Order: sequence, then C-alpha cells, then structure tokens
Amino acid sequence: MTSDNQLSLFNDDSVVNQIDAIPTSAKIPIPPGTYSNIIEIAQHCNQCHRCGLGDNRKHAVVGRGNLKAPIMVIGEAPGQQEDETGLPFVGRSGQLLEKILEAVKLSTQQVYIANINKCRPPENRVPTADEIAACKPYLLEQIRLVDPKIILLTGATALKSLTGDKRAISKIRGTWIEWEGRLCMPIFHPSYLLRNPSREVGSPKWLMWQDIQVVRDKLDEISPP
Ligand code: URA
Repeated sequence: MTSDNQLSLFNDDSVVNQIDAIPTSAKIPIPPGTYSNIIEIAQHCNQCHRCGLGDNRKHAVVGRGNLKAPIMVIGEAPGQQEDETGLPFVGRSGQLLEKILEAVKLSTQQVYIANINKCRPPENRVPTADEIAACKPYLLEQIRLVDPKIILLTGATALKSLTGDKRAISKIRGTWIEWEGRLCMPIFHPSYLLRNPSREVGSPKWLMWQDIQVVRDKLDEISPP
C-alpha cells in the first residue's frame, strides 16, 4: 500500500460515520480510545438506542464524582430517582453508599460512581444480557478514562457483567480479584443491606463494614495519605 493510500485511511468518512452511529446500533463496536472525555460518552449515552432501555429514559445516568478518583464504584443500573436526576446512586441505596464511604473517610473526591447500565430498566428489573452487552463498552471507556486504582463491584450484576465471574457475592465479597490488571473487590449492593438491616456480627452490614475498612487500608497502602 502506498503511503498516500495509508494516509487516506485516516481521512475515511466511513470511520467518522461509524463513530456517529455508535448510539444507534449495538452492532457498531466502541473500540478503546473512542472517547477523549466523559462528556463525549454522556452525549452518546443520552441519545443511545443500542438497546430498548433508551426508549423510556428521562436521563442516561453516566457517573458522578471525581473523574480522576482512585476508587470507582460500579452498581447495576439507575432507579427512578437516578433516571429523574441523571445521577447514579442518589436514592436510598445511594444514601447508604455515601454513609458507608464516609465511615472510612472516603469523600466524593476519592470516588467516582457509575453503573453497568446507563438507563433505567422497567420496574427496576435486572438488565438482560443483551442490554448489558450493548452498554458495557461505555463503561469500559469510563474505566479507561478515570483509570481507578481500585474498583468496587456492588452486587452480582456488576461483578458478573464486568469480569464474567458468576460466583455469588456472599462467597467472594471482601476478597481482591484482578481484572484487566486492576484491583477489584466485590461487595454487597447497598439495596441488599437496606433489606437486611441487622448489624450483628456476621450480618451483611457487619461484613460490609469489614470490607470497606480493607478497601481504605489498601488505598492508604497504594497511595499514602
Ligand atoms: N442502584 C444501582 O445499582 N445504581 C444506582 O444508580 C442506583 C441504585
């Protein structure tokens, strides 16, 4: 191939059109490096119809917190309040999540919060495999851009969707797993803790308290305060 031909590959309009078509079809890939910032991702998410969840959304819920945070928290999908505000974890689960983070002095400066799916599933059902697959590349781009040192996976959907690990959260919560060279810890989803309010030794809330202290210690170890 001549160098002129090679150069023309980079001017190819079809490549530009492909990027424009990302939100319209889940068949269009989203290669790493597609987006240069989260605003671009949010623009695509808010016009996205790669799955049916886009049909009923008020807002795509992309993320909140520090875009350079050392810790990224990943949940499942927005609920009603998140859909209305466009912000993740602002309902009851979110308030509990904030309390858990505050208990070990993790502020929003140290955390970025996102979800596997950006649009609310009807009746807050678990997103389907197709819905997860359609949305996952946006999350992968968020992870690449934020570049967190630690990822907390809240609940089985977040764990399975990101890493493929199908083990029950109750079995592997609180343990470090490596995914794509990053340190990840599966933890209970805050909504599970709302349904299990006991603080007794060995209860889900007690276990969460153990886990979040391990996370705090790890952060202090890898980036001393
Ligand atoms: N549950 C989630 O997993 N994510 C949210 O944003 C809200 C509730």
